[in-house]
Amino acid sequence: MRIADMLQRGRPTVSFEFMAPRDESEVEVLERTVAALAGHAPDWVSVTYRVRTGEKTLELVTRIKRHYHVEAMAHLTCANSTDRTRQILNWMEREGVANVLALRGDPPTSGEPFAPVDPELTHASDLISLVRRSGYRFGIGAACSTEKHPESPDLDHEFRYMQLKVASGADFLITQLFFDNRFYFDLVARARGAGIKVPIVPGLMPVPSRRSLSVMTSMSGATVPVSLQGAIDAAQDDEAIRVLGVQHCIAQCAELLEAGVPGLHFYTFNRARAPMEILAALRGQQLIAS
Ligand code: FAD
Repeated sequence: MRIADMLQRGRPTVSFEFMAPRDESEVEVLERTVAALAGHAPDWVSVTYRVRTGEKTLELVTRIKRHYHVEAMAHLTCANSTDRTRQILNWMEREGVANVLALRGDPPTSGEPFAPVDPELTHASDLISLVRRSGYRFGIGAACSTEKHPESPDLDHEFRYMQLKVASGADFLITQLFFDNRFYFDLVARARGAGIKVPIVPGLMPVPSRRSLSVMTSMSGATVPVSLQGAIDAAQDDEAIRVLGVQHCIAQCAELLEAGVPGLHFYTFNRARAPMEILAALRGQQLIAS
């Protein structure tokens, strides 16, 4: 089923992002996480794509669909040539994948600029156009930023290319992680003012640890509110930070749900505990269905 249709149903969807395993050492934790979170009946999930692990993404997506009967979306990036990208899309169509998150992708080496493999696929909008003009029937998602992307001169630049992604055929958008809901509300208001009608799903990350927070903020451009940063700085250890992250995320989700968001998308980093605690709290407050 197309995710864009689920997002229009008037009931917020709950979804999880899983990271395709980079090697065998990550498989066991991932399997446990998928099993635990599938038990919470998400409306849909998604699986990240990396050049070296592309086949694992496709394998995991099809397995989640068949084994857990949960709609699973494959991420796909501009990491391949156009011909290879078409082969991957053909394979996904044959396997019954219904939704693709079309991205440019992170550079393979952190801190280095992204080097396109194919001049026809340099930005996410190129991949979206390729999928649309080739006649595939996939629902297409795209990423967007609520704050300045590290590579962008400003937020206007980012907004312009978000408009291009929708004009190229994206059916829905998922935001980069953010810790202050005002950024999300500003983006949605600006998008609606510019005539963008597609659902914009907030992407949420419960802070896992001091180290992960620093990696993720530098990669995404997300800023941490002064009060949250102060509490993190004063925390004794990573477990205390994890608890703070969960509490902050619950408060974010509650406000977003009250504002009528189309869904909540959790960046899990292949850990089930924080999303499970957040969902339990939101159910307890009757903000989402049990
Ligand atoms: P783009 O939209 O191509 O943007 C990249 C940069 O180029 C931005 O600064 C943008 O403003 C600029 N830009 C865009 N279009 C143009 C244009 N036509 N001309 C000039 N400049 C332009 N990365 C992975 O490697 N694998 C994943 O599975 C993955 N999953 C993600 C899931 C989500 C929900 C999000 C938010 C991000 C994900 N990322 C992933 C990271 C993402 O690909 C990077 O953050 C990327 O730098 C920006 O997003 P994009 O892919 O949509 O690229």
